[in-house]
Amino acid sequence: MKRRKFIEKTAIGLSAPFWLNSCEIDFLNNKPFPISVSSMAESGHLIKNALSLKICEKCQTETLIVGGGLSGLAAAHTLKNKDYLLLELDDRYGGSSSANNYQGVSLGRGAHYDLAYPAYYGTEVLKMFEELQIIEYHPWNDNWSFKDRQHIIPNARRQQCFQKGKFRKNVMPKTKASQKLMELMRQFEGRMVLPTRFTPTELKYLDQSTFDTYLNEHDINADPNFRNLIDYQMLDDYGGTSKQVSALAGIHYYTCRPYQNQYVELFSAPEGNQYFVKKIFQKIPSQRILKEHLVYHIEKKGSGYLVDALNIIQNQRLQIQTDTIIYAGQKHGLKYITPEIDSPFDKNIYAPWMVVNILTRQKPNNFGYWQNEYLDSESGFLGFIDSSIQYQGNLKGLHCLTGYYCLKPEHRSKLLTVEDHKDRIVNKTLTYIHSMVKEPIDPEAAFIHVMGHAMPIPTPHYLFKTYPETDNFKFSGVDTGRLPLLFEAIDSGIVAAKSL
Ligand SMILES: Cc1cc2nc3c(=O)[nH]c(=O)nc-3n(C[C@H](O)[C@H](O)[C@H](O)COP(=O)(O)OP(=O)(O)OC[C@H]3O[C@@H](n4cnc5c(N)ncnc54)[C@H](O)[C@@H]3O)c2cc1C
Repeated sequence: MKRRKFIEKTAIGLSAPFWLNSCEIDFLNNKPFPISVSSMAESGHLIKNALSLKICEKCQTETLIVGGGLSGLAAAHTLKNKDYLLLELDDRYGGSSSANNYQGVSLGRGAHYDLAYPAYYGTEVLKMFEELQIIEYHPWNDNWSFKDRQHIIPNARRQQCFQKGKFRKNVMPKTKASQKLMELMRQFEGRMVLPTRFTPTELKYLDQSTFDTYLNEHDINADPNFRNLIDYQMLDDYGGTSKQVSALAGIHYYTCRPYQNQYVELFSAPEGNQYFVKKIFQKIPSQRILKEHLVYHIEKKGSGYLVDALNIIQNQRLQIQTDTIIYAGQKHGLKYITPEIDSPFDKNIYAPWMVVNILTRQKPNNFGYWQNEYLDSESGFLGFIDSSIQYQGNLKGLHCLTGYYCLKPEHRSKLLTVEDHKDRIVNKTLTYIHSMVKEPIDPEAAFIHVMGHAMPIPTPHYLFKTYPETDNFKFSGVDTGRLPLLFEAIDSGIVAAKSL
């Protein structure tokens, strides 16, 4: 090999995501099937084109909500009968909690589950979920549980974990090291709450260092194999390793529910957390919400704002005069959209994620675990969810294997190449799944959902930030100094709406 070629190859090997440098067994060659890719990665280009468009329509509202993820929808729900308009860029609602529709079946393509809520959690979300008939309170055990019992995953079928060619029950097996970790965590049980804005003051110092530093200071086994297990769990929930996330985030993971003393229900519908999106959406009047609209420019006008939005289907510009704004979209684009307002979010670090739904009519044999965690991957593959363990009522005989990739922030720009390499990505996912199920999979279709700014990594000094908001411009979403969790997203929307 010529020296120059060698250098090029090595550089790609070091810096490229897996689809640009790997080749696997070809599962697609035998029987091709359709693969669709969804991504909002091109929306930056839409903004550039929109700037020169003529105004097609004008309207006025009291409050404009930017973004129809869970936080924007929760804000809309909280505003009740007030005058507001919510604009969402995508062709559906839910953001990272949205779903794919395939032949009338709704399948999660992002957030997949939540766990039962202890009574000591903040009341705002609990009240809203009770109103929406999602949860009910049980005084005899002072706990909330989910009402749609068919979506509770049986404890015995919750998860298995695959490492070095072998299965075991949990990511972290019972060893001296794991018992010591759990001992250390015990002091925080009942004190790590959601939403995190209610964290007791005396625990907030834990936000100032990394979880890795905290573990070292407390003499937790530094063996890389053990630490890799912790890192896997941090990546799975927070998109970063223990060297990246704060000690508070790490401790929160192990103690935000009474895991050590009680059985904690896990709720997962086949449509994933789109279940919660639908429940809220049903309460929002249709004239107050518009999808396929990109908010691309906001400027101050008198005591309110003048906002430009692009109807991305008709390529038409809509201008909105509004008194107040709730900005519930991801914040990385804010500095381009509101050049007059200094973005306080420049230090946010986002993990990109990619979710691959593989649809098959064949029920995987000798399998049968909801979550199948994969510990050995170098590509960011974390495992897959098997829909055969979820409620079958609406699935029409379809099985969906949903693979998850948590990617490195430095690979974000390469997400634009996913469409060109979709066969490779699905192949790679099938290779992982095949190495676990050890039987042929006969896919009928696949979906790849790419999310460039999917998850704010809760690095030290990220939580509890106060942002310079004005009385009529509020921020919401998990990327406003909150953990990337459903409860935080909903709470942030409620708080923003109530503070107007
Ligand atoms: C792969 C993955 C799995 C996850 N799994 C779980 C889980 O199982 N349980 C859990 O609790 N949490 C999970 N999460 C965390 C999840 O992100 C949150 O629970 C929640 O869905 C975040 O909601 P949000 O409204 O803050 O943000 P988002 O969901 O990111 O919503 C923001 C919305 O704003 C829209 N938008 C952005 N800019 C504009 C604009 N300029 N104009 C118009 N619209 C705009 C976007 O299109 C998007 O719909 C997961 C996250 C990911 C990425």
